[in-house]
Amino acid sequence: MTAPSLYVHIPFCETKCPYCDFNSFAVLGRDVDGYLDALRREMDARGVPPDPPTVFIGGGTPTVVSPGQLARYMKDIVARLRPDPLREFTVEANPGSLTREKVAILKEHGVNRVSLGAQSLFAHHLKALGRVHDVADVADAYAIVREGGIPRVNLDFIYGVPGMTLAEWAATLETAISWRPDHLSCYALIFEPGTEFHARRSAGRLKPIAEDRELAMFRYTERRLSRAGIFRYEISNFARPGEECRHNLVYWRNQEYAGYGAGAFSYVGGRRTGNERNLARYADAVRARGDAISSEERLTGESAAREAIVLALRTAEGVDVGAVERRYGVDLGGLRGTIARMRGLGLVAPDGPLRLARRGWRVADEVAAAFL
Ligand code: SF4
Repeated sequence: MTAPSLYVHIPFCETKCPYCDFNSFAVLGRDVDGYLDALRREMDARGVPPDPPTVFIGGGTPTVVSPGQLARYMKDIVARLRPDPLREFTVEANPGSLTREKVAILKEHGVNRVSLGAQSLFAHHLKALGRVHDVADVADAYAIVREGGIPRVNLDFIYGVPGMTLAEWAATLETAISWRPDHLSCYALIFEPGTEFHARRSAGRLKPIAEDRELAMFRYTERRLSRAGIFRYEISNFARPGEECRHNLVYWRNQEYAGYGAGAFSYVGGRRTGNERNLARYADAVRARGDAISSEERLTGESAAREAIVLALRTAEGVDVGAVERRYGVDLGGLRGTIARMRGLGLVAPDGPLRLARRGWRVADEVAAAFL
């Protein structure tokens, strides 16, 4: 049995982006040290799996804090782990918040993968997205990470931004490809409820791009990246062979992970728990009882099996339904009709593991919903 992977949440950012629904807060005026105290307390009280196959520090922008604070929480985490040179160790970072000094701190603590939130290579789209970095910062940050000796780099981009043309998106991909990243995440802009963008759209102050233009970007992305040897392995994720993000594959394969920090989720022993999202309530809860769990769900039998199928359907590898039945000790015979219907519609592959066919990628959410 593989040990759970490890996720640590650092919820601070330079400013709050208007499209973002992550548990993140503008860092100015926040008690970062108080948060890091609470994080350490939570790790002490709950314990940390010492041999996680992957570690992912996300946020937020984990590198927005001072070099001293970065070194402090990296040390707190690494001190709890047994050394393993094969472990994938990712930290998310944003251009503008990354310096040579910070990259050196990451490297010193064993980080071997950095995920850079580039988002766009056009100044007007960065501005529209409310990003505080500029285009030159992206190139600088990428160079700093490479020169700092971090072997694996991901670049995050957003397409379908209001006003974006296919030509602009294509130019973004060309530049990104020329940098030779190992991995690209290309997300369609989503107007998540509760975000400023959602409110602006509801008030008619922000007009999403036409669906067919977004679809053209979606299709172009796979065509262009696969020609560059970077292949889609999940709806929004592309990698050179062998460079897939192993940590995210843990989620999509419904494997176990232990999460620490405000709003972090864990999935261990069929129990999915979520931590308190509010920073003050998170710290209070950890102080009072050693954990900050505010939601809990038990996934067993058929519900766990269906969840595993829905998650795996996001990936190119898909899922062997028989293996899911054996893993969860259930009979999924009731899904045969749904599978046959999806095959008939050409949305999932005609044979082999259950996985999306080319036509299915674009309607992946609808296909997944049929299996819930
Ligand atoms: S930098 Fe990332 S996590 Fe922070 S507010 Fe913007 S999108 Fe959200």
